[in-house]
Amino acid sequence: MLGLTGGIGSGKSTVAKLIAELGVPVLDADLLAREVVEPGRPALAEVAATWPEAIGPDGKVARKKLADIVFADPAQRLRLEAIMHPRIQALADERLAELARKGQPLAFYEASLLVESGRYKDFDGLVVVTASPETQLERVLARGGLSQAEAEARIEAQLPLLAKVRVATHLVDNDGDLEATKQQVERLLATLR
Ligand code: ADP
Repeated sequence: MLGLTGGIGSGKSTVAKLIAELGVPVLDADLLAREVVEPGRPALAEVAATWPEAIGPDGKVARKKLADIVFADPAQRLRLEAIMHPRIQALADERLAELARKGQPLAFYEASLLVESGRYKDFDGLVVVTASPETQLERVLARGGLSQAEAEARIEAQLPLLAKVRVATHLVDNDGDLEATKQQVERLLATLR
């Protein structure tokens, strides 16, 4: 099991999709994070108790609202992480055990904060997807939904990509076109297999 990370907009999801298309399972920490706050799960009650204003009229987490709160204040972000991380971890462990039972020898865990949290050390290796800061910002803005100031704040809130590159065991340079990235992913999987 390898970790897969990068900076926001560097192309983690894109690389995850390429890996999955080549038949290797990728667990997506964002999806797991959504799952642990689904109605009826204990993490939802904790989020609701801490930030009642981040719960929509349907009783579900208003994700944009919650993101606005926690990205504006590091202390709030730590509180949210303390609620979410143990649950995400437990769910990931369950999914991994399932894959192992099915005899799947290679799998990835995609998450944006693997290096920040130190969890990258728990994996057999770490793939870091890179792009220049200009490309990152350009792609985040092109994706829509965030203003330039919001996008810059989110990039700022993460460890610089270079710090992640330093602890990587494998790099995928996604500053070029998709075809170039795909070739690197194919080589990477061939090496790991
Ligand atoms: P991350 O998951 O790291 O935040 P994404 O994979 O979502 O980044 O990529 C950010 C945006 O840039 C997406 O809209 C994606 O389609 C686009 N993108 C990613 N890689 C490339 C590439 N090599 N060339 C052009 N656009 C790309």
